[in-house]
Amino acid sequence: MKLESLELTGFKSFAQKTKFSFHEGLTEIVGPNGSGKSNIIEAIRWVLGEKSAKNLRGEKMPDIIFSGSAGHNSLNRAIVKLNFDNSDHYINIDYTELSIAREIFKNGESNYYINNKICRLKDINNLFMDSGIGQGSFSIISQGNVENIFNSKPEDRRYIVETLAGIYKYKNQKQETNAKLDENNRNLIRINDIIHELK
Ligand code: ATP
Repeated sequence: MKLESLELTGFKSFAQKTKFSFHEGLTEIVGPNGSGKSNIIEAIRWVLGEKSAKNLRGEKMPDIIFSGSAGHNSLNRAIVKLNFDNSDHYINIDYTELSIAREIFKNGESNYYINNKICRLKDINNLFMDSGIGQGSFSIISQGNVENIFNSKPEDRRYIVETLAGIYKYKNQKQETNAKLDENNRNLIRINDIIHELK
């Protein structure tokens, strides 16, 4: 799988639709201070499900919408889209082209999309779980991240190793299954109580 392009409209300093296409090899983004380099990385983090406005250097999520500049009025909506080439079916879906998108409006209303169809964040998380790309993965190492990893508690470091080794997905599934088993056990107890009352 390969990240082919990133499209931004109304995200932070990118008022107009802007498309970054990524080619084979290394891509380096250079530009003067304040030209929007970090905004590009933040857009990727945001579309993958970042929930904290603070992590995107804002107070609240709608702050990421273009707030106006000398030649441009502010906008009411931001949308970011990531396009992947999935012809090797690294992500386990039938499609060879995969896109995920997230949009937000000034009133805070927000939507996620997989291949232009509305979905839940959970669907995106499930899609990318253990791919090394999703939310909380280490595909984006920001300033200070490496130091944080070194200084983290052993159990937090264990989580990192488990995520990288692909174990986390199964731990997550086990947790969900155990929760369902608990629910079923509670239902059984209730049914037994009712049977007992009816006798
Ligand atoms: P540096 O090299 O100094 O780290 P950079 O190239 O990474 O800078 P960014 O931090 O990505 O630059 O971009 C900062 C710019 O984005 C600032 O000019 C800021 O005004 C602009 N910006 C941030 N949020 C918004 C917004 N909601 N609307 C309009 N512009 C915004």
